[in-house]
Amino acid sequence: MPVAIVGGGASGTILAAQLARRGIESALIDGSGRAGKGVAYSMTEPAHLLNVRAEGMSAWAGDPDHFARRFEAEGGDRRGFAQRRLFGRYLGEQLEEAIVSGLTSLVHSSAVGAERVEGGWRLTFDDGSSIEADALALAIGNQEPEGLRPFEGVRERFIANPWGADARAAVEELADNGGDALLVGTGLTMVDLVLSLEAAGYRGRILGLSRRGQIPRGHADFQPAPVDAAEVPHGRVVAMWRWLRRRSAEVGWRAAVDSLRPHSHRLWQSLPPHEQQRFLRHARPWWDVHRHRIAPEVAATVARLISEGGLKIMAGRIVAAREGADGIEVELRRRGREVTERRTFAYAFNCTGPLHSMQRTRDPLLRSLLGSGQARSDQLGLGLDVDENSRAGERLWALGPLTKGRYWEIIAVPDIREQAAAVAEDIERELHE
Ligand SMILES: Cc1cc2nc3c(=O)[nH]c(=O)nc-3n(C[C@H](O)[C@H](O)[C@H](O)COP(=O)(O)OP(=O)(O)OC[C@H]3O[C@@H](n4cnc5c(N)ncnc54)[C@H](O)[C@@H]3O)c2cc1C
Repeated sequence: MPVAIVGGGASGTILAAQLARRGIESALIDGSGRAGKGVAYSMTEPAHLLNVRAEGMSAWAGDPDHFARRFEAEGGDRRGFAQRRLFGRYLGEQLEEAIVSGLTSLVHSSAVGAERVEGGWRLTFDDGSSIEADALALAIGNQEPEGLRPFEGVRERFIANPWGADARAAVEELADNGGDALLVGTGLTMVDLVLSLEAAGYRGRILGLSRRGQIPRGHADFQPAPVDAAEVPHGRVVAMWRWLRRRSAEVGWRAAVDSLRPHSHRLWQSLPPHEQQRFLRHARPWWDVHRHRIAPEVAATVARLISEGGLKIMAGRIVAAREGADGIEVELRRRGREVTERRTFAYAFNCTGPLHSMQRTRDPLLRSLLGSGQARSDQLGLGLDVDENSRAGERLWALGPLTKGRYWEIIAVPDIREQAAAVAEDIERELHE
């Protein structure tokens, strides 16, 4: 097989489609049953909307209107936010086209190891079988969240993975039987869970808790205010931050934040590692909630729930948690307070987001590659070290969240499609040399 792609989410699907258009055969490997959709777009709940306008969601670099045309043909508005399941269907169609061309095949297995062989790679699967390929692309998405220390002793009613079947079952049980829900983390994952609970008919009380209590801001129309790269200070977080504050005061924070989008990779790469660390420690929580905004309809639902008292957002941290007779007994401390308070929840969900650590990864495929030295972690240990062509090693490429160390802004479709096109081109070059 010329190319093996591990991971059938947006990144792997778009890469397979790109390769097929170039006449290159690939095997798209996904062990989750979500090939052609991935984690984000396999949700079936209509309340889950895209957080990027339809006009930004094309799978095809060079044809930015591809999804918008499709959406408009079904009566959608290109400036609107489509249901995520509709985008999943669209992605599935791109995959279907590649499969029908005879150039892409699907492998429904989980890859657990990769080793170099003459001229390429051998991938091993969890059932013991293996395939060989001339080139290997890793599009494995985000890693599952890590456990939360205070909940280590809690066996039941703590949902460690908010994307799994346990989470769906817990949402249904909460909707049927009531009880309070604790969501640890107040970012996009929390918003998703709040929407799922609301759509399931849950009418209990939700507490969203994170260190700063910041929640994603909503999209709204604004006058764009593009800037040249030369106008933005490079190399130091503090200087960039001051620039951003000044610019926000002049043109509004949405226009200021979005004006950095075309320059984000260069800005990130201009920061030395200790400055990147500084960004992650101090600026990231603010950046995330302003940059990764939610659809206005979703923001309105969240605001309504807060005003009605169904959702409370708190800045603070969990001190301890244990199983009690009536649910999980949690001791928490609000930010800036000395005293702790105790609350009991029917369920607690880990919404703190994916694990960003190669050192602590539990992924067998990554461990095999890192262990053999065929790939290494990036300077911050967030993902794999990749070069300017997203190569992580000999005939080895990585896409999407795994390449955050190099690009930082590489998790949304507008970035992923450009990366997938560039990787397909580079693979073609390599294989035809
Ligand atoms: C809930 C959510 C909503 C989002 N909404 C938007 C949005 O509206 N707009 C936008 O632009 N971006 C959005 N994003 C960001 C972005 O589009 C997604 O993160 C993107 O889809 C990532 O795709 P991926 O293919 O890299 O990863 P994933 O979707 O995680 O796909 C990776 C796949 O690889 C499989 N896999 C992993 N390891 C192996 C293995 N060893 N063997 C076989 N299979 C394996 C996994 O099971 C999974 O199916 C959203 C993200 C999330 C999580």
